[in-house]
Amino acid sequence: MTRSTRVESIMSHYEKAWQAVLQRIEAAVRAAGRPPGSVDLLAVSKTFPADAVRALYACGQRAFGENYVQEALAKAEALADLTDLRWHLVGPLQSNKTRLAAARFDCIESVDRAKVAQRLAAQRPTGKPPLAVLIEVNVSGEASKGGVAPDGVLALAREIAALPTLALRGIMGIPAPDTDVGTSRAQFRQLATCLARLQDAGFAVDTLSMGMSADLEAAIAEGSTQVRVGTAIFGARA
Ligand SMILES: *Cc1c(COP(=O)(O)O)cnc(C)c1O
Repeated sequence: MTRSTRVESIMSHYEKAWQAVLQRIEAAVRAAGRPPGSVDLLAVSKTFPADAVRALYACGQRAFGENYVQEALAKAEALADLTDLRWHLVGPLQSNKTRLAAARFDCIESVDRAKVAQRLAAQRPTGKPPLAVLIEVNVSGEASKGGVAPDGVLALAREIAALPTLALRGIMGIPAPDTDVGTSRAQFRQLATCLARLQDAGFAVDTLSMGMSADLEAAIAEGSTQVRVGTAIFGARA
Protein backbone atom coordinates (compact mmCIF):
# COMPACT_ATOMS: atom_id res chain seq x y z
CA MET A 1 0.00 0.00 0.00
CA THR A 2 1.17 3.53 -0.63
CA ARG A 3 1.29 5.79 2.35
CA SER A 4 -1.77 7.79 1.26
CA THR A 5 -3.98 4.72 0.78
CA ARG A 6 -2.83 3.42 4.15
CA VAL A 7 -3.82 6.72 5.74
CA GLU A 8 -7.20 6.54 3.98
CA SER A 9 -7.99 3.05 5.19
CA ILE A 10 -7.11 3.80 8.80
CA MET A 11 -9.05 7.02 8.47
CA SER A 12 -12.34 5.26 7.81
CA HIS A 13 -11.55 2.88 10.66
CA TYR A 14 -10.97 5.69 13.17
CA GLU A 15 -13.57 8.11 11.84
CA LYS A 16 -16.53 6.08 13.11
CA ALA A 17 -15.05 5.74 16.58
CA TRP A 18 -14.15 9.44 16.64
CA GLN A 19 -17.67 10.46 15.54
CA ALA A 20 -19.15 8.21 18.22
CA VAL A 21 -17.00 9.88 20.89
CA LEU A 22 -18.08 13.34 19.68
CA GLN A 23 -21.69 12.19 19.95
CA ARG A 24 -21.14 10.87 23.48
CA ILE A 25 -19.64 14.24 24.44
CA GLU A 26 -22.52 16.27 22.99
CA ALA A 27 -25.12 13.96 24.57
CA ALA A 28 -23.45 14.40 27.96
CA VAL A 29 -23.27 18.17 27.45
CA ARG A 30 -27.01 18.24 26.68
CA ALA A 31 -27.87 15.99 29.63
CA ALA A 32 -25.95 18.37 31.91
CA GLY A 33 -27.87 21.37 30.53
CA ARG A 34 -24.63 22.97 29.34
CA PRO A 35 -24.22 24.97 26.10
CA PRO A 36 -23.37 22.93 22.97
CA GLY A 37 -19.67 22.93 22.15
CA SER A 38 -18.59 23.59 25.73
CA VAL A 39 -16.36 20.49 25.95
CA ASP A 40 -13.27 19.96 23.78
CA LEU A 41 -11.90 16.58 22.75
CA LEU A 42 -8.21 15.84 23.22
CA ALA A 43 -7.36 12.67 21.28
CA VAL A 44 -4.79 10.72 23.31
CA SER A 45 -2.59 9.07 20.70
CA LYS A 46 0.06 7.51 22.94
CA THR A 47 1.40 4.18 21.61
CA PHE A 48 -0.36 4.74 18.25
CA PRO A 49 1.70 5.64 15.18
CA ALA A 50 1.97 8.99 13.42
CA ASP A 51 -0.24 7.69 10.59
CA ALA A 52 -3.09 7.20 13.07
CA VAL A 53 -2.73 10.84 14.10
CA ARG A 54 -2.63 11.88 10.44
CA ALA A 55 -5.83 9.93 9.76
CA LEU A 56 -7.68 11.61 12.63
CA TYR A 57 -6.35 14.98 11.54
CA ALA A 58 -7.92 14.35 8.16
CA CYS A 59 -11.25 13.81 9.97
CA GLY A 60 -10.88 17.23 11.58
CA GLN A 61 -9.25 16.50 14.94
CA ARG A 62 -6.53 19.01 15.85
CA ALA A 63 -5.53 18.49 19.50
CA PHE A 64 -3.59 15.37 20.47
CA GLY A 65 -2.35 14.14 23.84
CA GLU A 66 0.83 12.20 24.50
CA ASN A 67 2.34 10.69 27.64
CA TYR A 68 6.00 10.46 26.75
CA VAL A 69 8.06 13.39 25.51
CA GLN A 70 10.34 11.31 23.27
CA GLU A 71 7.47 9.46 21.60
CA ALA A 72 5.64 12.72 20.97
CA LEU A 73 8.71 14.35 19.43
CA ALA A 74 9.10 11.53 16.93
CA LYS A 75 5.45 11.90 15.88
CA ALA A 76 5.67 15.69 15.74
CA GLU A 77 8.66 15.31 13.45
CA ALA A 78 6.79 12.92 11.14
CA LEU A 79 3.77 15.27 11.09
CA ALA A 80 5.62 18.57 10.79
CA ASP A 81 3.66 19.39 7.62
CA LEU A 82 0.41 19.65 9.67
CA THR A 83 1.17 23.08 11.04
CA ASP A 84 -2.03 23.62 13.03
CA LEU A 85 -1.83 20.34 14.92
CA ARG A 86 -1.60 20.94 18.70
CA TRP A 87 0.31 18.69 21.11
CA HIS A 88 -0.58 18.37 24.79
CA LEU A 89 1.56 16.48 27.28
CA VAL A 90 -0.68 14.57 29.68
CA GLY A 91 1.92 12.24 31.22
CA PRO A 92 4.35 12.99 34.05
CA LEU A 93 7.20 15.34 33.15
CA GLN A 94 10.69 14.79 34.54
CA SER A 95 12.99 17.78 34.99
CA ASN A 96 15.48 16.43 32.47
CA LYS A 97 12.82 16.48 29.71
CA THR A 98 11.55 20.02 30.20
CA ARG A 99 13.75 21.56 27.47
CA LEU A 100 12.34 19.27 24.77
CA ALA A 101 8.82 19.65 26.14
CA ALA A 102 9.02 23.45 26.25
CA ALA A 103 10.14 23.54 22.62
CA ARG A 104 7.60 21.19 21.08
CA PHE A 105 4.36 21.13 23.07
CA ASP A 106 1.51 23.64 22.99
CA CYS A 107 0.21 22.70 26.43
CA ILE A 108 1.67 20.84 29.41
CA GLU A 109 -1.23 19.41 31.44
CA SER A 110 0.86 17.70 34.13
CA VAL A 111 2.62 20.55 35.94
CA ASP A 112 2.66 19.64 39.62
CA ARG A 113 5.69 21.43 41.08
CA ALA A 114 7.34 24.83 40.89
CA LYS A 115 10.69 23.45 39.75
CA VAL A 116 9.19 21.99 36.56
CA ALA A 117 7.25 25.21 35.92
CA GLN A 118 10.40 27.31 36.32
CA ARG A 119 12.40 25.10 33.97
CA LEU A 120 9.64 25.14 31.34
CA ALA A 121 9.45 28.92 31.60
CA ALA A 122 13.20 29.40 31.26
CA GLN A 123 13.40 26.95 28.35
CA ARG A 124 10.41 28.12 26.32
CA PRO A 125 12.00 29.30 23.06
CA THR A 126 11.82 33.05 22.48
CA GLY A 127 9.47 33.92 19.64
CA LYS A 128 6.93 31.27 20.64
CA PRO A 129 3.75 32.31 22.46
CA PRO A 130 3.59 31.60 26.20
CA LEU A 131 3.35 27.87 26.90
CA ALA A 132 -0.12 26.90 28.14
CA VAL A 133 -0.02 24.87 31.33
CA LEU A 134 -2.49 23.10 33.57
CA ILE A 135 -1.87 22.20 37.19
CA GLU A 136 -2.31 18.48 37.74
CA VAL A 137 -4.16 17.87 40.98
CA ASN A 138 -4.11 14.53 42.78
CA VAL A 139 -7.59 14.13 44.23
CA SER A 140 -7.43 10.37 44.73
CA GLY A 141 -4.57 10.48 47.23
CA GLU A 142 -2.75 7.65 45.42
CA ALA A 143 0.96 7.96 46.25
CA SER A 144 1.96 6.47 42.90
CA LYS A 145 0.26 9.24 40.98
CA GLY A 146 1.55 12.67 40.04
CA GLY A 147 -0.26 15.84 40.93
CA VAL A 148 -0.20 18.42 43.67
CA ALA A 149 -2.53 17.98 46.65
CA PRO A 150 -5.65 20.17 46.48
CA ASP A 151 -4.37 22.42 49.28
CA GLY A 152 -1.20 23.16 47.29
CA VAL A 153 -2.93 24.39 44.15
CA LEU A 154 -3.13 28.08 45.03
CA ALA A 155 0.55 28.37 45.97
CA LEU A 156 1.65 26.64 42.77
CA ALA A 157 -0.69 28.86 40.71
CA ARG A 158 1.02 31.94 42.20
CA GLU A 159 4.46 30.59 41.25
CA ILE A 160 3.29 29.93 37.67
CA ALA A 161 1.61 33.32 37.35
CA ALA A 162 4.96 34.96 38.09
CA LEU A 163 6.48 33.34 34.97
CA PRO A 164 5.64 35.42 31.87
CA THR A 165 6.54 32.68 29.35
CA LEU A 166 3.89 30.37 30.83
CA ALA A 167 0.11 30.86 30.59
CA LEU A 168 -1.84 29.12 33.35
CA ARG A 169 -5.10 27.84 31.89
CA GLY A 170 -6.59 25.58 34.57
CA ILE A 171 -6.61 22.18 36.20
CA MET A 172 -6.11 18.57 35.11
CA GLY A 173 -6.91 15.46 37.11
CA ILE A 174 -7.45 11.72 36.99
CA PRO A 175 -9.74 10.01 39.50
CA ALA A 176 -8.74 6.69 41.07
CA PRO A 177 -9.16 3.83 38.57
CA ASP A 178 -11.83 1.18 39.02
CA THR A 179 -13.89 3.03 41.57
CA ASP A 180 -17.66 3.29 41.56
CA VAL A 181 -19.34 6.16 39.72
CA GLY A 182 -20.15 7.94 42.99
CA THR A 183 -16.50 8.07 44.04
CA SER A 184 -15.23 9.24 40.69
CA ARG A 185 -17.94 11.90 40.51
CA ALA A 186 -16.91 13.15 43.94
CA GLN A 187 -13.29 13.36 42.73
CA PHE A 188 -14.35 15.21 39.57
CA ARG A 189 -16.30 17.60 41.79
CA GLN A 190 -13.16 18.23 43.87
CA LEU A 191 -11.26 19.13 40.70
CA ALA A 192 -14.03 21.54 39.71
CA THR A 193 -13.78 23.10 43.18
CA CYS A 194 -10.03 23.60 42.69
CA LEU A 195 -10.72 25.50 39.45
CA ALA A 196 -13.41 27.61 41.12
CA ARG A 197 -11.01 28.51 43.94
CA LEU A 198 -8.44 29.72 41.43
CA GLN A 199 -11.11 31.80 39.71
CA ASP A 200 -12.22 33.24 43.06
CA ALA A 201 -8.60 34.16 43.77
CA GLY A 202 -8.56 36.19 40.54
CA PHE A 203 -6.78 33.82 38.16
CA ALA A 204 -8.09 33.95 34.55
CA VAL A 205 -8.43 30.18 34.18
CA ASP A 206 -11.16 28.30 32.34
CA THR A 207 -9.89 24.80 31.53
CA LEU A 208 -10.96 21.74 33.47
CA SER A 209 -9.30 18.71 31.86
CA MET A 210 -10.98 15.59 33.21
CA GLY A 211 -12.73 12.51 31.90
CA MET A 212 -11.39 9.66 29.75
CA SER A 213 -12.92 6.89 27.62
CA ALA A 214 -14.69 5.17 30.51
CA ASP A 215 -15.92 8.15 32.51
CA LEU A 216 -16.29 11.17 30.24
CA GLU A 217 -20.04 11.46 30.94
CA ALA A 218 -19.49 11.73 34.69
CA ALA A 219 -16.72 14.29 34.15
CA ILE A 220 -18.91 16.41 31.87
CA ALA A 221 -21.73 16.29 34.41
CA GLU A 222 -19.25 17.78 36.92
CA GLY A 223 -18.06 20.58 34.64
CA SER A 224 -15.23 19.19 32.50
CA THR A 225 -14.27 21.47 29.60
CA GLN A 226 -11.85 19.01 27.99
CA VAL A 227 -11.98 15.23 27.93
CA ARG A 228 -8.87 13.19 27.12
CA VAL A 229 -9.85 10.12 25.13
CA GLY A 230 -7.58 7.38 23.83
CA THR A 231 -9.06 3.88 23.86
CA ALA A 232 -12.53 4.85 22.64
CA ILE A 233 -10.99 6.38 19.51
CA PHE A 234 -7.90 4.34 18.74
CA GLY A 235 -8.76 1.01 20.40
CA ALA A 236 -7.01 -0.84 23.20
CA ARG A 237 -3.33 -0.14 23.72
CA ALA A 238 -0.91 -3.06 23.40
C1 LIG B 1 -3.86 7.35 28.60
C2 LIG B 1 -4.45 8.57 29.21
C3 LIG B 1 -5.71 9.03 28.82
C4 LIG B 1 -6.62 8.29 27.85
O1 LIG B 1 -7.20 7.20 28.52
P1 LIG B 1 -8.28 6.25 27.79
O2 LIG B 1 -8.85 5.47 28.91
O3 LIG B 1 -7.50 5.40 26.84
O4 LIG B 1 -9.27 7.10 27.12
C5 LIG B 1 -6.16 10.23 29.37
N1 LIG B 1 -5.41 10.92 30.26
C6 LIG B 1 -4.20 10.51 30.66
C7 LIG B 1 -3.44 11.32 31.64
C8 LIG B 1 -3.68 9.31 30.16
O5 LIG B 1 -2.49 8.89 30.59
